[in-house]
Amino acid sequence: MAVNCPICGNGTLKKSDKYVCCSNHSVEKNEDGSFSENGCGFKIFFDQKKYFGRMITPGDVKTMVEGGEITSPKKHKMRLDLTSNFFTRIEFAPKAELEDL
Ligand SMILES: [Zn+2]
Repeated sequence: MAVNCPICGNGTLKKSDKYVCCSNHSVEKNEDGSFSENGCGFKIFFDQKKYFGRMITPGDVKTMVEGGEITSPKKHKMRLDLTSNFFTRIEFAPKAELEDL
């Protein structure tokens, strides 16, 4: 079942092998060979290893769009945040306390 875009509301979410984006998004090739992106800019990449510690799945994106949160192996939490450039916000788990040598 299609999931509505949380940004524009009238597009539906589409996935590629690298990201989820909105059906109202289009990329056009300009006469000079460059590309311009038009329409809704909602996009979440699956590769979140750098900060979150793992790849996320299309199911994870759906969970977040529906208001849930997902968890990484190190207990970091990720939620949707439409004010962020990445459309997600990570709440980092507290660092483990250091022990005496
Ligand atoms: Zn949209």
